[in-house]
Amino acid sequence: MGLAGCCLAWQRHFRGQAFSWEDAGFARASSRVAAGLINPVTGQNFSPSWRLGEFLPEACEFYGRVAELLGRRIWHPLPVWRLVGEKEWAKVSGKLEAASPWIESVTEDALPGWRAVVVLRGGGRVATREFCEGTQRFFEAARRDLAEGEDEVMCEGAAGLIAGRLGKHRCAKGEILTVRAPAWSQERISIGGGGWLVPLGEGMFKAGSTYVWEPLDALPTVAGRERIEGILRLLGGDDQFEVIVHEAGIRPIVRKSQPVIGQLDDARVVFNGLGSKGSLYAPGVAARLNAWLEGGGSIDPELDLAGLR
Ligand SMILES: Cc1cc2nc3c(=O)[nH]c(=O)nc-3n(C[C@H](O)[C@H](O)[C@H](O)COP(=O)(O)OP(=O)(O)OC[C@H]3O[C@@H](n4cnc5c(N)ncnc54)[C@H](O)[C@@H]3O)c2cc1C
Repeated sequence: MGLAGCCLAWQRHFRGQAFSWEDAGFARASSRVAAGLINPVTGQNFSPSWRLGEFLPEACEFYGRVAELLGRRIWHPLPVWRLVGEKEWAKVSGKLEAASPWIESVTEDALPGWRAVVVLRGGGRVATREFCEGTQRFFEAARRDLAEGEDEVMCEGAAGLIAGRLGKHRCAKGEILTVRAPAWSQERISIGGGGWLVPLGEGMFKAGSTYVWEPLDALPTVAGRERIEGILRLLGGDDQFEVIVHEAGIRPIVRKSQPVIGQLDDARVVFNGLGSKGSLYAPGVAARLNAWLEGGGSIDPELDLAGLR
């Protein structure tokens, strides 16, 4: 199971509702490689993520609750340092006011090579792989093939979108490196120059990422590695790193990183489109989907896949 399926499983478990699950174990699954970063204010536009004030507290509470049941930490809050170059600064400086609830500090001309450092609050890392593997183990007894007549919720990620489940999609392949760099700071997430560097503890980091629309395979490439090594030098500050793993996956994108839920004409239910922000949105969207499955009113119109038609 990926983030979507795992979050839905927990939301049902928390409410004492029965379910079973199956998973094809696709290599391209995004949750297998994701860095788990939650960055409150994102992109070249430096805008707070969609409905952040609602989904972020829900996600933090959710991961905390799951961590207690799994007996391991899942959510690692960390300051996010957005490193802003000279060219970007004109735009970013004009957006600071709108993002102010998420800004801890702004320092100009403090780091060589960067025009400013904006320190963001509310961000951190979800230990995505540990979360998904731990969830699968926790619910192992509920693993079985779908029986006839049972309701089906498809949390298929990019595989479902590529199969045409929702028509047009914008899935994007991403490559990522896991590196060892004992001298680098583990105290912050760094974002800048089109990439990010996320500490994992014990001298390890994840860094990424590339963003390409084809081919949509899970094959790491030489060009991808070179690009991320460039990001590592930019954000880590020197050459003192050792590449441990180089992986690729496919982000399930329908409309940017705004997820979709709802029912297809054949009555099957879909939970997909987590894009680049599965860690932030999966818990809250799973809760809304589950409430609707249990007869709790209509689907949030901003999430409803009916809006895609
Ligand atoms: C390089 C990279 C870095 C990323 N970094 C981040 C990050 O830092 N922060 C963040 O929030 N997001 C990040 N993402 C995005 C994040 O990974 C996704 O938003 C999220 O993992 C999507 O989860 P999902 O469950 O929808 O899909 P998936 O992870 O793809 O899971 C789908 C699951 O369904 C199974 N499946 C598919 N079809 C079938 C079928 N027909 N029958 C049975 N099983 C099936 C698959 O085997 C898989 O286990 C990143 C993505 C990439 C590629």
